[in-house]
Amino acid sequence: MKFALAGNPNCGKTTLFNTLTGSTAHVGNWPGVTVDKREGVYKKASEPVDIVDLPGIYSLSPYTPEEVVSRNFIVDEKPDLVINIVDATNLERNLYLTTQLLEIDVPVVVALNMMDVLYKNGDSVDLRVLEEKLGVKVVEISALKKKGIHELMEVAIKEAKNKRKGWSVLLESDIHDLVETAKGLFEAESVDSPLFHAVKLIEGDEIEVKNHVKLDSELHEFKEKAAKNEFDGDFEGVVADLRYKYITKNISKAIKKNVNNQGLTKSDKVDKVLTHRIFSIPIFLIIMFIVFHLVFSEDLLGLNRLFGVTTSNETAVNVFTGMGYDDMASEALEEASAVLDLSEEELAELNLTLLDPDATAEEKEEAQAQIDLYNLMTNLNIQYELEKATDEEIGEFVDYLVDVYKEGNEELNDQVAVELEGIPSPGVFLQSWMGFATGSLIDLFRSFMPEDKWYTGLVCDGLLTGLDSIFSFLPQILLLFLFLSILEDSGYMARVAFIMDRAFRKFGLSGKAFIPLLMGFGCSVPAMMATKTLEDEKERDMTIRIAPFFSCGAKAPIWALLAVCVAGSFLGDIFVFSIYLLGIVIAILSALVIKAFSKNKEVPPFIMELPQYHLPQVKSLLVHLWEKFKHFIYKASTIITAAIILIWFLSSFSWAFWNGMVEDINDSILASLGHALKYVFYPCGWGLGEDGWKYTVASITGLIAKEDVVATMAQLGLEEGSIGLSNAAIYSFAAFNLITFPCFAAIATAKSESSKKGFVVTLIWWIAASYVVSIVVFLIGLLFEVTWILGILGIIASIGLVILVWILGQKLTTKDKLQEA
Ligand code: GDP
Ligand code: MG
Repeated sequence: MKFALAGNPNCGKTTLFNTLTGSTAHVGNWPGVTVDKREGVYKKASEPVDIVDLPGIYSLSPYTPEEVVSRNFIVDEKPDLVINIVDATNLERNLYLTTQLLEIDVPVVVALNMMDVLYKNGDSVDLRVLEEKLGVKVVEISALKKKGIHELMEVAIKEAKNKRKGWSVLLESDIHDLVETAKGLFEAESVDSPLFHAVKLIEGDEIEVKNHVKLDSELHEFKEKAAKNEFDGDFEGVVADLRYKYITKNISKAIKKNVNNQGLTKSDKVDKVLTHRIFSIPIFLIIMFIVFHLVFSEDLLGLNRLFGVTTSNETAVNVFTGMGYDDMASEALEEASAVLDLSEEELAELNLTLLDPDATAEEKEEAQAQIDLYNLMTNLNIQYELEKATDEEIGEFVDYLVDVYKEGNEELNDQVAVELEGIPSPGVFLQSWMGFATGSLIDLFRSFMPEDKWYTGLVCDGLLTGLDSIFSFLPQILLLFLFLSILEDSGYMARVAFIMDRAFRKFGLSGKAFIPLLMGFGCSVPAMMATKTLEDEKERDMTIRIAPFFSCGAKAPIWALLAVCVAGSFLGDIFVFSIYLLGIVIAILSALVIKAFSKNKEVPPFIMELPQYHLPQVKSLLVHLWEKFKHFIYKASTIITAAIILIWFLSSFSWAFWNGMVEDINDSILASLGHALKYVFYPCGWGLGEDGWKYTVASITGLIAKEDVVATMAQLGLEEGSIGLSNAAIYSFAAFNLITFPCFAAIATAKSESSKKGFVVTLIWWIAASYVVSIVVFLIGLLFEVTWILGILGIIASIGLVILVWILGQKLTTKDKLQEA
């Protein structure tokens, strides 16, 4: 036996499917996740039942691929029964689909889901009224709490054994004559499910008209007559209207609302705030910032930023005194001023020590330290008098004081270090722990391997170094995904799509497009595939084009690495946050530019259910993370490893590779390629300088998989502490890698999902946009004197976004279909 599960998006189909078949399919909170049809087997009955999970749909009209898939499956492949899942908390909307399913000649059982929520609100449903008005069996269930599942299947198996003829609510309406006539036409041709086809033909349904041209013209005359009598001829609208009328008139009687609870549900109350016309976007930004803060910040809760020490000389002293180390503080200052008092001769003597061949290394070091301190102090002193010392210089001085004391007092050293560095966020903490673990592992490996052998180079400098650089970011990425999954599972992401719909409509994108885009935060490949849910080809192309701008998980290691490297690494979280925002802003701008060049028609209205908020289930979160982890391991062990070996070879040998490995990496094949290409990236900043070719090469390996950017950088010796880029160039490098071609897998997906012409435009768009944005970012960076660019850009980007969306929100006069629902 074969049963199909049909229902609106978010009615709990996937949850029920998983319960029935025991599989761990993805449970999402938005429509569009279930694009494909999935099958499983229910084994707990006397005979096994095949279960097919159809995509979520609101109707059987031919407007989306999902609707067509579901309709064809039920009408053509004829399952033994359709289990129509209905969200009991949203009966009116859900039953609209039911009224259409009932017209097909197939047994139907209505599974009234989410009953747990309904009962919790103190409401109830009169099943007898429902069954009478729909003419089919209705069973109460809770897919989540696994209640009523057995009963449902028992009833379904029994019903599946009886044939059922289609029935329509329209037969009880003013157009029943027309419906009967049309049905008669199909019966004469002995078509299956004549009633269903009849109603569709009356609606003027595209597919139906195409398949039955003759019947359509025959019916035409009857339609004209009916139209003359009562209607204005828009039969599609008339039919929809009649369906809703029937539902409201008869079925809302079946619901018994708790009289004490007529007002808003808890979810509604929360939504008043979270989807507020004005506050929703800032709230979204704040929530996202908190996520990035917890994952990427080196300074938890901004403790150090707020009470930090790097702002003035006075606080420098306070580090010591505040900690009860008054003596040391004054000692430090004393020593500093003693140095400042050096006479000319003493200074000369120190310089001589540096040149003295007899002096020990220690003496030289000491002399150098004194000279450095002297230079620093004099400089500061002069500038103080001119009141010109910058925070950075004072910070340098403080660092110096700390250095002086590091030597002498380990215990103090630890405390000062904590005070100066702030407390790391959980993400950074996990990352440093993981980095330490993988780093130690490499050292261990190295100690067992013979030196100076090519395979030691391959294993240690190639494979292990490359993989280590990615693996050390794994905990951070998983943590980021944990937070995103929590937002998704709680129902918040569905709100984000709704909020964004209000804004995106203006840019020629509907919120429906925003759902695939949000998925892009995970991976562009499923995001692009999810564009199947969009009706308009142009919109699909555009959504695919901007999907990679929503920074995917594979790019996260790049941001994590660069976050540590930007000057004043306390800004790491702001840096990453601003990168994500930059992506969204560029996506919006792209949509605007593309729209300006095309005559796009009105964006179709977007209807989606806002699911009730609920606590995410631990199990489903773990499934998300496990999938992510598996994907990561798979990628690391295949395509990334392959790329690392390739890069190792290219960077270890020259064109004359038969001569053995090169001593200097600058003689390698990779270097020659990088040198040839780096000029292109001179205007971007990161192509300049002696490491310019390395960044060029790293960006190119990003085509294979974005993780390879970091792996290649590590192999070429660009790591935390050795990134010789200015902040402007770092930011520009990040922007380029964010916007340019995604990985091969995503490019291939884009090719198969877009139109031919659209795909070519997409390729051009990716390279052009990334190049231009990278240059602009670098120039702005130079303009702002670099140091604070990150913070500034981040803040500007967020403020810009808020204002833009706010203005647009004000302008929108169309009513929110959703809030009414
Ligand atoms: P689909 O889009 O129809 O496949 O819906 P899903 O199975 O993905 O479910 C949507 C959301 O509703 C998920 O967050 C589920 O956990 C939740 N859900 C599903 N069934 C129930 C139920 O019976 N009760 C409650 N409270 N939540 C449910
Ligand atoms: Mg689903």
